[in-house]
Amino acid sequence: MNNSGLSTLNPDKAVFKETVAAGEGWMHVIKKGQIFRITDLHGNQAVDTIFFNADNIEERYNSANTMREQRNVYISTGTQIRSNDNNVMLTVTADTCGRHDTLGSACSCESNMARYALDKRYMHSCRDIFLKTMLDWEPGMDKRDQVCNINFFMNVPVNPDGGSNFEDGISEAMKYVEMRAEMNIIVLVSNCPQLNNPCNAYNPTPVEMTVWDGE
Ligand SMILES: [Zn+2]
Repeated sequence: MNNSGLSTLNPDKAVFKETVAAGEGWMHVIKKGQIFRITDLHGNQAVDTIFFNADNIEERYNSANTMREQRNVYISTGTQIRSNDNNVMLTVTADTCGRHDTLGSACSCESNMARYALDKRYMHSCRDIFLKTMLDWEPGMDKRDQVCNINFFMNVPVNPDGGSNFEDGISEAMKYVEMRAEMNIIVLVSNCPQLNNPCNAYNPTPVEMTVWDGE
């Protein structure tokens, strides 16, 4: 880890690389000690993400524990991403974007209707993508396993009065965030398809997932 937020890893030494299209789900195991990077290929994309303990899926990402222990609502270099048991699941080791959201959670057909319009109900949403991706996963997960997620690259600033809003993103093309798994992790991603708020600059785009073995 270094203070610049830049990674020292060599892209040629990655053991895994995959592009996830906008509006697609992705699920993958990251072993303890491996480094996982998400790259915002075109900029201004929201990447909805939940982490599970691969050896006990009842243990999963918890936003309140993560915020409380670091006394900050944003995720960036140095953040320890914590579970519902308050164990450290991953440590953020590099981050060229500088801010990732813990508060906004996932878009859904209900929020599409309540926030935008009745006829937005049938548009794709992260909750549906999470569910579809989890149902395909062995040994199986379902709706009950969806918890408040991280939105990598999404900008949800908290105002001095405590309010917050979805704002235009501060991420740009090829910005990345990198984290080391502190336990065996299942990563669940919905690469957000949302077209009704500025979290994706109204234009959802692909992201790249890269994994390195630890030193
Ligand atoms: Zn979404």
